[in-house]
Amino acid sequence: MALAQENVLIPDVGLRVKALESLLAEKGAIDPKSLDLLVEAFETRIGPKNGAKVIAKAWVDPEYKKWLMKDGTAAIKSLGYSGVQGENMVVIENTPTVHNVVVCTLCSCYPWPTLGLPPIWFKSAPYRARVVIEPRAVLREFGLEIADDVEVRVWDSTAELRYLVMPMRPAGTENFNEAQLAELVTRDSMIGTGLALAPGK
Ligand code: FE
Repeated sequence: MALAQENVLIPDVGLRVKALESLLAEKGAIDPKSLDLLVEAFETRIGPKNGAKVIAKAWVDPEYKKWLMKDGTAAIKSLGYSGVQGENMVVIENTPTVHNVVVCTLCSCYPWPTLGLPPIWFKSAPYRARVVIEPRAVLREFGLEIADDVEVRVWDSTAELRYLVMPMRPAGTENFNEAQLAELVTRDSMIGTGLALAPGK
């Protein structure tokens, strides 16, 4: 039911937002370019920083990681990240033998409190359709080559569940503190279309 409602609402909301944006720009209340910059910031810089802090904490704190894997919603909420589109969080861990990638095949469900706004490609029909059918090819287009002996698991988000990928901690970060580690956790690494950055890159 919730999903059906969401699907019906999205185009309508999109139109309303566009209409509002045009009106505000016309009245000189906003500059569309600044708005684009703001959206971009929430997509790539501000939003995903919350998720990065969650992952970095899990990398350094085994007890927290255990809790995060068992009850993602509560463990994430304990750091102050909760609310709309983050009510039911499931964290899935990448390992040397399993790589996880997240999609919402029906619409564009995305964990807002931890990742901010979804990138355009996440909402695009080609990503949603193809990542299920040929995940390795899609990941290759993101510059991510997954070895043949690594299993790729695709997780389909729903209106009820949002997934967050825990990327593998990069090698050479043994002496990194939590804040330094968080810098290595990119948005794409928490969707599964990328890896955490190697130190110094
Ligand atoms: Fe969705």
